[in-house]
Amino acid sequence: MKSEIIQSLHFAQTQFKKWRLISFEERQSYFLALEKILLTEKENLGLLITQDMNKPISQSIAEIEKCAGLCRYYAEITNPLTVELVETSWDISEVHHEPLGVILGVMPWNYPFWQVLRFAVPTLLAGNAVVLKHASNCLNSGDAIERIFNEAGFPLGLFQHLHLSHSEVEELIEQPEIRGISLTGSDAAGRKIAQIAGKNLKKCVLELGGNDAFIVLSDADLDKAAEAGAIARLQNCGQTCVAGKRFIIHQDVYQIFIEKFIDAYKKFQPKDPMLQETILGYMSREDLAVDLVSQYKKAIEHGAEIILPLEVLSPISLQPGLLKMNVGNPILDEELFGPLGMVLVVASDEEALQVANTTSFGLANAVFTQNKDKAMYFAHHLESGSVAINQLFKSDVRLPFSGRKNSGYGVELSVKALFEFTAPKTIVGNW
Ligand code: NAP
Repeated sequence: MKSEIIQSLHFAQTQFKKWRLISFEERQSYFLALEKILLTEKENLGLLITQDMNKPISQSIAEIEKCAGLCRYYAEITNPLTVELVETSWDISEVHHEPLGVILGVMPWNYPFWQVLRFAVPTLLAGNAVVLKHASNCLNSGDAIERIFNEAGFPLGLFQHLHLSHSEVEELIEQPEIRGISLTGSDAAGRKIAQIAGKNLKKCVLELGGNDAFIVLSDADLDKAAEAGAIARLQNCGQTCVAGKRFIIHQDVYQIFIEKFIDAYKKFQPKDPMLQETILGYMSREDLAVDLVSQYKKAIEHGAEIILPLEVLSPISLQPGLLKMNVGNPILDEELFGPLGMVLVVASDEEALQVANTTSFGLANAVFTQNKDKAMYFAHHLESGSVAINQLFKSDVRLPFSGRKNSGYGVELSVKALFEFTAPKTIVGNW
């Protein structure tokens, strides 16, 4: 392992030992300074996101604003990590929540600031240090995040962006100072990192891919469902883990819904991401566009019908496509990470539920119905970490976010995230 990586790790460990002794409330004050920098610099930080991965500029700036909101939330919450005094037969019987140490974040490119801060802010607030391995096409964003942590006054070395190869990540996880890993990315990367973490007995949080259902029942508000469905599929050029990917439509409303859905879908025309009015940018990388087109072709070879063709306008610009899928099509259980939706028609509510759960993933399903009991029935039986009713799913810093099945394990956001990289310490005794 390169000596400068080892040095960075030792520096993080040294800073961790001091940082963990600072009170929760004092740590919180640093996040207000970070919020301020994010808001002051939202235009140039947003520009970095667009330059790194082609997100439309207005959405890149909105991503920075969401990060600022995250900082404010954690800066203002009441400390949930206080000492618990438990009544036992001993004089002393206390539970403390201790930070684990240096935590490695391995992060993706689709929300280059949000994914990193969503993990790093509660992890640092709980008293840990963080080292980041960012996606290889987001190194500029990663460097900028390290810079703003430093400018906000965090102790130097407490948050570091290391430019690491895959094999260096493996070697880093083997180092004794690394006490936990959080990975957001594909299930393939999750399996690999979890394997290395397991071999080294390190705690791991995994936020992985999704293949979520967007269910439209026969009593749904179809205008609302069609508008929300198009955004759910096409936001961030379809490169969102919680995007609606499989549209499961009750046969009684299929014809009317699909016309409205196509109209809403056609509003998304790929344009230069640097323009203010752009709502659909380009794919983040050429190889990702190639992968999506090959999944599209494979789906058709296996019997899918084209509703709207996925057209290649340039190596990174895709005109959004829609496929009517047949049961048993192998692409149904693959994540489509781009502007391509799958539509399935079902004959009953029970079939809708069964089809929705026929996937190895489970992040954030959505259901549209005007019947509250039915909505809650679906919410309790859908196998995903979150369920949205009559709206597209959006994560909210106040609410926990987690996956089921191959979408991973562990929790991000809300007060619950503060416990992920802490461990209880029990102190008992007598005087
Ligand atoms: P990815 O290819 O899995 O990469 C994610 C991160 O893992 C990158 O930093 C990547 O580095 C690194 N990585 C991949 N394989 C590795 C290995 N063997 N050893 C060490 N590091 C490794 O995923 P992506 O294409 O960037 O992101 C898209 C995926 O993330 C989708 O599946 C999406 O659904 C998922 N995602 C999930 C959530 C969630 O909250 N559940 C949120 C956003 C995205 P390199 O760039 O250097 O390869």
